Amino acid sequence: MNPDFVVVGSGMSGLAFARTAAEKGFKVLILEQRDHPGGMLHCRWEENVEVHSHGPHIFHTSSAKAWSFFSQFAQLDGFINSPIAVAKEGVFSLPFSMYTFNQMWGVRTPEEAKAKLKEQCIELDHEPANLKEKALAAVGWDIYSLLIKGYTEKQWGRSCEELPPWIIGRLPLRMTYDARYFSDRWQGLPVDGWNAFIDAVLCHPNISMLYGVDFFEHRDEFEHMANKMLICTAPIDKFYGHSEGMLQWRTLNFVEERHEVESIYGAPVVNWPDKDVKWTRISEWKHFRKNECPFTVITKEIPAAWKEGMDPLYPIPTTENKELHSLYVARALKDTHVAFLGRQGRYRYLNIDQAIVEGIELAESLC
Ligand code: UDP
Repeated sequence: MNPDFVVVGSGMSGLAFARTAAEKGFKVLILEQRDHPGGMLHCRWEENVEVHSHGPHIFHTSSAKAWSFFSQFAQLDGFINSPIAVAKEGVFSLPFSMYTFNQMWGVRTPEEAKAKLKEQCIELDHEPANLKEKALAAVGWDIYSLLIKGYTEKQWGRSCEELPPWIIGRLPLRMTYDARYFSDRWQGLPVDGWNAFIDAVLCHPNISMLYGVDFFEHRDEFEHMANKMLICTAPIDKFYGHSEGMLQWRTLNFVEERHEVESIYGAPVVNWPDKDVKWTRISEWKHFRKNECPFTVITKEIPAAWKEGMDPLYPIPTTENKELHSLYVARALKDTHVAFLGRQGRYRYLNIDQAIVEGIELAESLC
């Protein structure tokens, strides 16, 4: 019997779609090109240490829908991300809070910080036109030069003038001593690890899964197999054979290292904004879950231009890419046998909770 839905990819959005459709009584077949479920959410264990092979996956949400989905399959362990940035000779707290202002300028109260920010910031008589303007209007020259410019330009391979303001708007700006990277109501890691969470989501009699299957190599077999619809979480331009052109992506090379020492950084997440350091971020995994072990594992994230064969991680938000993407969306709207989902399918910079909500909502609209 054919499945009602065939889902290409078992990352977070594909998982949320599959589980929601399955619970509504529909049969779902998931095709996963890797040999494990979860796509890039999948983690590797180095003894008792969970290593997020594709960069830190920290669940955080204020969406009741995302939380209700997550909490069916895991408990939160209470991890709060409060990263540091190592810049020039200093160590600074992120995101931008009273801790950062104190470390940067020695100011101790919100009033002192406001006075300093007034000296530092530019005044705009228009909405910020780009990331640089937004940053300079919000935190001023010192912080922009030390903590933002180098990081952003390495991360995106573009100047801050070419990037949209909302990218830096992902980071909170607080006039309080609150060093949490995320402001959301619910945040943390699944207590038993991401792989256990993924397995729990997939544990439903209406869900089946094929591993090591690249949809694009077996397209004839799977594209029209579903009774209802194909759900594609692979890149939309690839699905259409790049007929309108290639969408651009930024990617990261993840370099993992094990060291036989107690700890290297003493922090779970360290950002590296200096231009002459090639990585942007290092995660030291044992600190995520406070593991006791005589060794440590770290992962460096080294940004790179995306090429075929690499994982497409960040859609590059330029006008050119937006216009190209809208051509694919127009084409997809006429195609009734397929719907697109997830960072790659929708060419959107999504957090885990947004991927969950979009997966659930697509299933609700189709089931
Ligand atoms: N950012 C920065 N300095 C930092 C961390 C972040 O300038 O130390 C800026 C940078 O432009 C980045 C954006 O904030 O692209 C969003 O950061 P976030 O940590 O949300 O990126 P992600 O975790 O999605 O890679």
